Parts: sequence; C-alpha cells; structure tokens
Amino acid sequence: MRGSRRTKIVCTLGPSSSDKKTIRALIEAGMDVARLNMSHGTQDDHHRLISIVREQADVLGLNVSVLMDLQGPKIRIGEIPDGPVYLEKGDFVELTGHPIEKSTSERLYIDYASLSEDVSIGKKVLIDDGNLELVVSELRGDVVVAEVLIGGIVTSRKGVNLPNIRTTIPSLTEKDLRDIDFGLEHQVDIVALSFVRDPSDVTDLVQRLGGPRERPSIIAKIEKPEAVANFDKILTQSDGIMVARGDLGIEMRLSQVPGTQKTLIRKCIQAAKPVITATQMLESMMGNPRPTRAEVSDVANAVIDGTDAVMLSGETAAGSYPIRSVEVMAGVIEEIEKYCETLYTPGKKKSANVSDAIAASATELAEKVGAVAIACMTASGNTARSIASHRPSVPVYAFTDDQRVVGQVTLTWGTKGFYIPFQSDTDDGISRLLAKLVEHDLAARGDLIVVTAGMPLPAKGRSNTVHVSKI
Ligand code: PEP
Repeated sequence: MRGSRRTKIVCTLGPSSSDKKTIRALIEAGMDVARLNMSHGTQDDHHRLISIVREQADVLGLNVSVLMDLQGPKIRIGEIPDGPVYLEKGDFVELTGHPIEKSTSERLYIDYASLSEDVSIGKKVLIDDGNLELVVSELRGDVVVAEVLIGGIVTSRKGVNLPNIRTTIPSLTEKDLRDIDFGLEHQVDIVALSFVRDPSDVTDLVQRLGGPRERPSIIAKIEKPEAVANFDKILTQSDGIMVARGDLGIEMRLSQVPGTQKTLIRKCIQAAKPVITATQMLESMMGNPRPTRAEVSDVANAVIDGTDAVMLSGETAAGSYPIRSVEVMAGVIEEIEKYCETLYTPGKKKSANVSDAIAASATELAEKVGAVAIACMTASGNTARSIASHRPSVPVYAFTDDQRVVGQVTLTWGTKGFYIPFQSDTDDGISRLLAKLVEHDLAARGDLIVVTAGMPLPAKGRSNTVHVSKI
C-alpha cells in the first residue's frame, strides 16, 4: 500500500524490467508484488530477479512480495524448424500428439501425447490465443483431423487451447515440480497455479509445498470454464484467486468474462481471500506511452468491483514503458478510489466465525470513533484479510511474528504487514504495535487506533478482542 492507495499492483518481471534500476523504479512507482512468470526464463534468471526485488525493497523500506507463477500444463504447437506454416480456412489438417519429422500445413505436431484420446468430434482446437480456430472432424487412430474455421499463420511453440475438453495432463508438470523446489528454496511468498480444473489440483500443490502450514500461499488461476464451474470448491482449498482473463477469454465466450470477473471478485471478498484481476489491463502501453480510454476504464472498474489487486503482464515484462505503466495504473487506482465510497459497497457480509465478527466490529468501530487505522495481531494473516474484506475506510496494519505472512498480506487490499515478535502480555504487545505505527509516521499523538488481538497472546487463530487505543 503506497500513500492512500488500497488496491495493490502486481507487476510481471521480464526482459523490460530485469535490471536493478528499473526494478527500483517499479517499486517506487507502486509495485507491491513482483510476479515471476515461470513460462519464460531460467531459474538462474528468476533467482537474480528475486535477489534484486528483495534488496531494493529493503533499501526503500517498502514491502514487496514475490509471486511465482507456475507454467502448468500449457499445450503448445511443436517446433516448426522450417518456419511458419499457413492454415487456410476450409482446409483440413492432421494434428498429432506424437513428434513428427516435419510439421506442415497438412500435418502439425502438438506437444500433448493424449491429444487423440481426449478430444472428440465437434470440439474446438484454438491456436495462438484463439486467433486460429479449428474443429475436430474425424479421429483416425492417434491422428486428429480438424477443419480450419479461422485460418492464419502458425509458428513454433504457439499456445493451443482445447475449450471444454477434460484434459488428462497432470496439473503439475515435471517442470512445475522443479520450479516448486526452486520457489521453496528461495522462499517465494506466493505460488500461482495455472490451468486449475478442480479443487484436487490445488490440494496436490498443497501437499507438494509441504502441507497446510508454513508454506507460500496458493493463488488458483481461474482460466478454464471447468474452474468457473467448480469455483466454490476451488476457493475453499486456495488462499486466493487470479481472474486470468487471457486464457479465460479464449476458452469461454469473451462476452462472459466481465460478468465472471464480477462474480469471482464478490465471492473472494465474501471468503476474505485476495483476488487478482489480470491480463491486458493496459495492453496498448506495451508500445504506447498512453493507454486507451477503455483500458483506463477497465482498471477503474476492477477497483470498483473490489478487487484486491490488478496485474500488469507484458506491459512491465516486455513492453516499452514498464515504469510508466505502473505510474498510470497507480494514478487510475488513486483517482477511482476517491469515488469508491459512493460507488462501491461490499454489502453486509455474513460473519462465518468469531474472528470475522470481530473484524466486522473493528471496521464499524473504526468508522464510529473516527480511528485513523485498524491494527491487528495475526499469526497467519487471516485476521487482516478478514478485516480487509469488510473494506474499511482506514488502512489495515497486520502485525505478525511470521516474516512470510508480511509478504503474503502485501497482496491484500488496503493492508500493510509488519514483523513483530509476539509478547505474552497483551498490553505490552499493543504498546509496541502503537510505537511501531508512530515510528513509521502512520499515526501521531492523539490518534485513535482500533486494535484486534487474541487474548491471551500469542493466540493463533483466535482473534477475540477489539480495543480502542489512543496514541
Ligand atoms: C492469463 O491467462 O490471463 C494469465 C494470467 O496467465 P498466463 O499469463 O500465465 O498465461
């Protein structure tokens, strides 16, 4: 959270943003979370980026967390060594999931061995972000014959989408498993799981990360219609959600994406779990210093929907204006948040448990007494997320004795984390927390702070007390 901005900014790092100077400038411009896209680059590249992000965040005294986005079971066209091939509308092309000597416009290799077993006649095969559209017309052993409905050029490694096909590829590929070990070694704060289909994909990752506690938080990327259909159960198993509009907009009708975005954000707020709205938010800034009016409206509308974070992908990873993109995004957020009090109301959330009822009371109390902030003592970060889910009008400060939780709550709307060793004495704990706020210029003599805690301290998962403190 920088200044008064509540909605967080996730920036994907890449060739346009891999040096120290640019990363520092991205942090100064408002990057809260650095996203490493494991579909690109080597582990050495990513290790370097993690070190620079942490070093520069430290120098600037700001919280910036690291999100590792796993590639997942992305299906791609195989190598076409002799250059691109052209598929003409009305032509038929043979698709095979087994390597062939040479891909041509008559026969194409797709790197998915079970292709012929998983598709059926009438299903669509989309290539290059849906720019080319084929329909399966015949199955001939392990060859799939498809008619070209929308033609175009196919180059090596272009993405392939098989909408509404229950693929049998495991959700964690060999590469993902290696990247998970890398992420654990370098203590990334958040892991994003691509192409989630059902809750078991998330629980597989939980097991792999070493069980439910002391692990990076897991963001399930919703980019397949199956994931939208299974959303409630996926949300239960995940720590947060990404509305991955890129692949989602290929696999379902584009016109369904905005409504889906709104529904998913609403459910995440209800569950007090952070949600990232992603992809093409300022796409034209890849090559232009100014965004389109529609892009500005897209960012603003995601903020009005109540998203915890908005994400930049190519804009910061490979575009010509990475820093400007963050500045523009931060500016749009700050401006629209001024209107949100009148435009956006989170609605009366039903409180599912005591902690959430405490969070609701703290939010209401802060309004009533004119407090400048709500501070909470939280071992897991859940109390902070609960308070933030009521979208209070004042900042939420999460005090935790777990450094990892500081990184995790950085993604949550309106929340800033602080590391503080917990004391067994609650009064002493509250005094130290208030002193920290004063030290960071976040509160001054005479200010009221609403504090929530579990009593007696340290009480894990048991926020049971709301306290109003005067500095
Ligand atoms: C998306 O599809 O919107 C997305 C964020 O996924 P990725 O960029 O990893 O393909």
